[in-house]
Order: sequence, then C-alpha cells, then structure tokens
Amino acid sequence: MSKGRILMSSPDVGELEEQYVMAAMRSGWIAPLGPDVDAFESEVAARVGVEHGVALSSGTAALHLGLLTLGIGDGDIVITSTMTFAATANAIVYTGAEPFFIDVDPSTGNMDPNLLREALNRLRAAGEPVAAVVPVDLLGKAVDYTAILEIAAEFDVPVLADAAESLGARHAGKAAGSFGRASAVSFNGNKIMTTSGGGMLLTDDADFAQHVRYLASQARQPVIHYEHVDVGYNYRMSNLLAALGRAQLLRLDQMITMRRELRDRYKQLFADVDGVEVFGVRGDEDDNVWLTSILVDADAAGWTPSLLSAVLAEYDIESRPLWKPMHLQPVFAGSRGVINGASERLFNTGLTLPSSSALSDEQRASVLSRISDFVREKQSAP
Ligand SMILES: *Cc1c(COP(=O)(O)O)cnc(C)c1O
Repeated sequence: MSKGRILMSSPDVGELEEQYVMAAMRSGWIAPLGPDVDAFESEVAARVGVEHGVALSSGTAALHLGLLTLGIGDGDIVITSTMTFAATANAIVYTGAEPFFIDVDPSTGNMDPNLLREALNRLRAAGEPVAAVVPVDLLGKAVDYTAILEIAAEFDVPVLADAAESLGARHAGKAAGSFGRASAVSFNGNKIMTTSGGGMLLTDDADFAQHVRYLASQARQPVIHYEHVDVGYNYRMSNLLAALGRAQLLRLDQMITMRRELRDRYKQLFADVDGVEVFGVRGDEDDNVWLTSILVDADAAGWTPSLLSAVLAEYDIESRPLWKPMHLQPVFAGSRGVINGASERLFNTGLTLPSSSALSDEQRASVLSRISDFVREKQSAP
C-alpha cells in the first residue's frame, strides 16, 4: 500500500497484532498448523455462536469445500446472488456445478426471496433439481435469512451462506455466519478483519466440519503412510496467520464502531444532497457496515458517481462502483438466472467510498472535505 493513498478498506493492524504474531513466532509453531489455529477456530465459532470453525487459506476455499461437503458436483445447479464478488460463483464452477443467478432486493443488494422462489419453482417445473442455495451478505448486511431459509426448506434445498463480508453483523438476533448448514467467512486484507489472507467455514454440524478439515488437509487418511481415497486440497490456515486473526477478533467490535462513525459522517454529509442516498441504511444497526456506498441519481444530483470517483482519484482517494453483477460478467456470459434489473441499477448508480477503520482523523477529515467541496460546488452550479 502506498503511504499517502486512502483505500476503501485497508488492513487495520497495530501493536496487539504484532504481539500475537511475535508470540506465535517465538513459540516455534510456524509450520503450518498449531495452537493459534485451534484457538482462533474456537474463538470465531464462539463469537458467531456455532459449534465448529475450520480455519482455511481463504473465504473462497471455505465456499469451495462447503459446496463439496454438501455433495455438489458435475451438472448440479447452485443458486446464488448475482450481486457478489466473483469468488462466490467461481467456487460453484470449481465443483463442476452451474451457477444460477438471482437478482436482488434494491434496498439491500441481497438476494430477493421472491425471485428465489420463482427460480426454484421454474427449475422444479422443468425437472431440474437445485442442489444448493448460496445467499451472499452484501457489504456487511445479513441476508433476510428468515425468508430465504423458509423457502429453501420448502424446496428441501440446503443453504451455504457466503458471509465473507458480514462477520459481526446480525439478522433477527443471530450472528451472520450462523445461518444455514454452514457459512463461509473471509479474512482477506480488505475485509472487516484480516489474517492478511484467510477464511473460515462455520457450522453446527460436527461431521460437516470434520469433512471440510479432511479435504483441506490433502484428504489424508489417518494412517502412518500417505494414503488417499479422495482428491484433497491444501487449504488450511497457517498458525502465524491465525495468531494475527486472534488479535483482530479482539478488536472486531472496535473496528465496527470506527466504520459506523465514518458512515454516520457520510449520512450527515449527504443528508440534504439532492439525488444521493447512502445505500442500505435502513436497519443498518444490525450491519457490520463493512463498506459504505452511495447511490446517485445523476439527473437529480447533476453529477455521476464516476465523476465524483475521478475527482477523488486526483487526491489519491480510492472509490469504486458496487460489485458488477455476475450475469453481466464476460466469464459468465450465457449463464441462467432470474434477473429483473435491480442489481444492474445498483451497479450503474452506486459508488463505494473509503470505509476503513484504519483511517487517521486527518485522513477521514480530508475525504469528507473533498466530497463536501465537490457536492457544494455542484449544488451552486447553475
Ligand atoms: C471476499 C469475498 C469472497 C472471497 O473471500 P477470499 O478470502 O478473498 O477468498 C467471497 N465472497 C464474497 C462476497 C467476498 O466479498
């Protein structure tokens, strides 16, 4: 990371993280598993309120092994949200299954339960059973799991939750990462907390966790020589990274608070700006507010999100459109789904702003004043 550049979401690490990583180094538990991995797994599981956690090399690995453990394979159909990062759809493709994309509730960006029902009905009528549903908690707001799980149960389809962005968020009093058969979380460098790179599979099901652990450790049989009856993966998290994660977990609530304070400042800033709303603020007291985005109605505002983005870039401040929907990605051209345009509108009108918990007071003030200067200039233009 270049020092001066203000990123949307940069790692927030300091002395506590240094202490934990140094202690792990000095303990001699370098390669690759060790006591910090075990502790990190149980600490994250406890935080989320599930029985088991399996620490892995990435959130993508957690999705991949979660799908394999559900028995997903060649020719299966897996329904997911079109508004997501490519990793969700890629993990489905790794198994040989076909991703089937569902459009979103425009107020949250999360899978629209009505469209999910429509897809399940349509596919059932066509004699094409669905093997799993993978909802995605967008930008730190949990999916409406009450509705999604009810529909999935009605059609007898298992749910694997992509909670990569939502550690620390809640739905109906329960933590994100605790819904469905299992959940995948991510500790990538830009997420709400980081191990520099990593992920975890969370579940209440001991056999499920055991199978993920087995596949992630090269599918070795428990004998003295190397014996394999399945194709395995090298997907475990290293002990040093787990130590970093343990320190981050202790600071998770503090980091959420920092992000929420910044979002509140954005809410104030845009409160009386025509044509601009802060995205997903309804019910956001349950969110981890990982990223804050705005939606810009260019006609009403008199400016486009890309114009603001270009102006911020001149000051070395990063901003980006929301996830480009999967059904619009060249790599998934020709994919099937139930699409109504909601995600495409979010992609066209949305802009994600710097949301890091690691920003200094000075950096925050600079971002806010650049944006408010821009907005005021536009408002006073004839
Ligand atoms: C980050 C992310 C992933 C992938 O996590 P990695 O740890 O980077 O592999 C998957 N799904 C979503 C929605 C994400 O945002």
